[in-house]
Amino acid sequence: MFFFRRPQKKKIFVLGLDGAVKALIDRPQLPYFEKLLAKGFYQDLISRPAITSVAWPSMVSGVNAGKHGIFGFRVGEELFFADAKKAPELWDYLPSIALNIPMTYPVRPIEGIMISGMMTPDWGEEAVYPSSEIPFLREQGFVFEPEINLEAVQQSMAAKIKVIKEYFHRPWELFFVVFREFDVLQHFFWGQEIPFYQEIENLLRWLLEEEKFLNSPENSLLIVSDHGFAPVSQVFDLEQWIKENGWADKVFVGGWGSLYLRGGKEEKEKNKKELEKALKAVKVEDKEILDVYPREEIYWGPWAEKGPDLVVSPRRQLGFTFGLRTGKIISPSEHKNGCHLEEGIFLALGERIRGGKKEEARIFDVFATIMELAGHKLPPEIDGEPLLQLQS
Ligand SMILES: [Zn+2]
Repeated sequence: MFFFRRPQKKKIFVLGLDGAVKALIDRPQLPYFEKLLAKGFYQDLISRPAITSVAWPSMVSGVNAGKHGIFGFRVGEELFFADAKKAPELWDYLPSIALNIPMTYPVRPIEGIMISGMMTPDWGEEAVYPSSEIPFLREQGFVFEPEINLEAVQQSMAAKIKVIKEYFHRPWELFFVVFREFDVLQHFFWGQEIPFYQEIENLLRWLLEEEKFLNSPENSLLIVSDHGFAPVSQVFDLEQWIKENGWADKVFVGGWGSLYLRGGKEEKEKNKKELEKALKAVKVEDKEILDVYPREEIYWGPWAEKGPDLVVSPRRQLGFTFGLRTGKIISPSEHKNGCHLEEGIFLALGERIRGGKKEEARIFDVFATIMELAGHKLPPEIDGEPLLQLQS
């Protein structure tokens, strides 16, 4: 007699910690993380530019912004929302729970459940699919984006964890949740003990020891961030620099470090080269303090033309960031003491995982990695490649 075993579903749980960096999870205060780091496969995940609203769409679609069309939260006064996205995402392939991921508002029907993330104005059909989940979410005290104070963050995390524990028992192949809370807090509370990583350890204990998620050899757990974080102490005022250096008529700042040149094509090309050179030459104590990326270096594809001509990023390694306008090109940072770093985290656990494949892991490789873990073919148009060697 033959027994036909249905192939077991390969389930993937992705825990997104917005703004997590290795130095924050690899500390003696976090023994469970220490254990998981020792057991799993770890690699820094490079996010360029290190912008939340660009990085998460890249991670879930496997393409750069020139193909998914989201270049930031805003250009000038215009805000970007999920309905501007041009590329298919993980939930177009896998039955999913997509919980609180940035740039998913307004939500769309998927096979599963989708709860939007930051920039969600209010409850309603555009925030939750299916909307029949709204009463349950409200009952748990779920919020789309917490206010920036410790108490509000604690409540929002607790509510989200309750929602995770409920949805875990619904049908899914991909469970993708993001804790934006870390990015929000670390800008202002860097250097203080942020207690919430312990909450994540508890969540992981629940997942692995109570639910025994990884006891099934087909299952995988990924812990990822959209970018890292580093301490900062100085603010570079890009608009002030533009003004003082005679560029005000030729360029405008669209969003975080995004420069759009004005004028005709030829003029723009000439100015772009000149401006790139001038910005790269900005020095403090003999050190260049800005990374400057021409569009073609970081964005390619059918929508790339819509992106900024140059993206400027103050070097966090030297303690520089953008901040409120101060009227001085460089001044001490009074509001923020932490800011984004290109090096985020990628930690993978599961019995099938044998190690890594690539020297440099990039944000859009996560999509390809998840698709491969799920046993799916990779769509040919993606930029990413799988990061893991799997047991054959
Ligand atoms: Zn972020």
